[in-house]
Amino acid sequence: MVDQRMAEQAATPTGSLFLCWQSACVVARRNRGGYSVVELEAERVIPAEPGQFMMVRMEGGPVLPRALSVLRVEGKRVQFFVKDEGLLRARLAGAVPGTSFELRGPYGVPYRRAVDPTRRYLLVGGGSGIAPLHFFWRRHPELVDATAFGLRTRDAAEVLPDTTFVVEELGQGTASARAQALWKPDNGVIACGPREMLLQLARELPSRDAVYMALEERMGCGHGTCQGCVVITRKGTLRLCKDGPLVPLEALPW
Ligand SMILES: Cc1cc2nc3c(=O)[nH]c(=O)nc-3n(C[C@H](O)[C@H](O)[C@H](O)COP(=O)(O)OP(=O)(O)OC[C@H]3O[C@@H](n4cnc5c(N)ncnc54)[C@H](O)[C@@H]3O)c2cc1C
Repeated sequence: MVDQRMAEQAATPTGSLFLCWQSACVVARRNRGGYSVVELEAERVIPAEPGQFMMVRMEGGPVLPRALSVLRVEGKRVQFFVKDEGLLRARLAGAVPGTSFELRGPYGVPYRRAVDPTRRYLLVGGGSGIAPLHFFWRRHPELVDATAFGLRTRDAAEVLPDTTFVVEELGQGTASARAQALWKPDNGVIACGPREMLLQLARELPSRDAVYMALEERMGCGHGTCQGCVVITRKGTLRLCKDGPLVPLEALPW
């Protein structure tokens, strides 16, 4: 059954973005060290906010769509930051300009609405998990105290030229180790990256207060209907696509 929010959204001018696919063509891409920034031009303006994601699929492809965080959006143009592996992401990473994909969304609660707005934040990102944090950092610099974005190789660190990374290959350690050094008691933390990185952070941060983790699960629909991304928290179950992807660390049984 169509719930209240879907009905409300469907009645807005952008409502059809919520339920319908639109075509989008690759217009540019940059590949470095196993990661890619891929820019697509869609048919309509994409009103995405930092922390939101799109469901993406190959045109006419037989597989379920995949969730990808928005790295940047400007009008009809949207950028994704992907690891060059897996069925869809490898296709995106190797796509020549003009190749078509299909997009639906944006979905998910924007980070700004999910976090305590009275704090400033340390952003901790690993690998492609940097995408939503990078968008948040550029869109809401007043809410950001510091960043710890980690990548393994120096080649990968060239993929986003305007960004400072902690590069493991250069002996700079990991994003979570850097986060310990940058942590301040009055600030919050927003983290997105591999599960091991999030678990390590959860173990090592001096406080759980205002710490938020972006979780990943396989998503079928992206808007709360299929129940494919349900996670169990201390406060009950939540659908990561609709109630997340950001979850307060206090709510996680970690
Ligand atoms: C809200 C959200 C936002 C996300 N944002 C991003 C993002 O910005 N960038 C990004 O890169 N990812 C992102 N992801 C993760 C991404 O959606 C998943 O990794 C998705 O499965 C990628 O689809 P794919 O077709 O490229 O890879 P899949 O083909 O689904 O493969 C996923 C992983 O499984 C491995 N795998 C596949 N088949 C096998 C097999 N038979 N045996 C062993 N391993 C196998 C692949 O190598 C790969 O590492 C996000 C996920 C969520 C939930």
